[in-house]
Amino acid sequence: MQKRSAKKGGKGSGGPKKDMGCSSGSVPKKARTTRKSPTKCGAEHEEEEEEMEIVNVFSHEMDSLECDICFLPFESRVYSCKNGHAACAACCINMERECPSCREPIGDFRCRATEKILAGMTRPCRFKKHGCTETVRYTEARAHEEDACRFAPYRCPFDGCAYRGLMLYDHIQDDHAAGGGVTSAMGLLRRMTVTLQKAAPFLALMHRDGESVFLLLNRGGDDLTGRRLSVICICPYPLEEDEEIETEYTMVVKGDVAASLSLTATVPFVRRLQGYKANAFIIVPKEFWDSSGTVTVTLQFS
Ligand SMILES: [Zn+2]
Ligand SMILES: [Zn+2]
Ligand SMILES: [Zn+2]
Ligand SMILES: [Zn+2]
Repeated sequence: MQKRSAKKGGKGSGGPKKDMGCSSGSVPKKARTTRKSPTKCGAEHEEEEEEMEIVNVFSHEMDSLECDICFLPFESRVYSCKNGHAACAACCINMERECPSCREPIGDFRCRATEKILAGMTRPCRFKKHGCTETVRYTEARAHEEDACRFAPYRCPFDGCAYRGLMLYDHIQDDHAAGGGVTSAMGLLRRMTVTLQKAAPFLALMHRDGESVFLLLNRGGDDLTGRRLSVICICPYPLEEDEEIETEYTMVVKGDVAASLSLTATVPFVRRLQGYKANAFIIVPKEFWDSSGTVTVTLQFS
């Protein structure tokens, strides 16, 4: 049935990544300077005040470690204009290398001091409350939380839907099943045949386990390049005793001509469709689609 992958501790495996830098896993705490020798009760009170102060310092400093333009945490490179306004690399490009605060050029000078501070910092994953126990480098936290964290919320793949959460399966059943583009035919045999519309960007295949959402993707545009068909799964990474489990699928596409196309590949597990690029797909040329603009796709999962 399912094959265990050798890449233990890889993407999304939840495997431990040793943190570097400061041992507190966050911004260095403020030095304690005003310790008196009060009564026991007073000492506890002072301790509380000190904790509050640390929280305030922490949130203030965290603000200054976010890009002024997109408000996302800085990654490894930080740029500044000659007046000291900081921006991330993506924003320098998006703003066409012009500082939005002072209109001076931005993108040529790096803020090495800030980069150095960031390089030594770690912090807990922000999905700690969902169960993630990883402490990640500050500059890698965004990548972890967006792509690798097993506890990050999923993004609904349906166009225009803003849902983000851990109950994607239920959300799609409740909010999108009636609108088409969803089929729950995937049963225990893990084999299914579906009809795919040429204009549909994907068909959601709801597994009867009540958790796994597979998407039969139908991407690409014009007749010259054809449509590119592939499969992904948006669901919790299948793990068994800390090892990833790979799922393979074979896809056979039949259409209006006396031929079929087939592909065998591994199902990628992703948390969101946005930005995903398939590296294995079938190209279905325009001749394949029948007069009503459909093809028949048979999928077998192993
Ligand atoms: Zn930015
Ligand atoms: Zn500026
Ligand atoms: Zn995480
Ligand atoms: Zn949705």
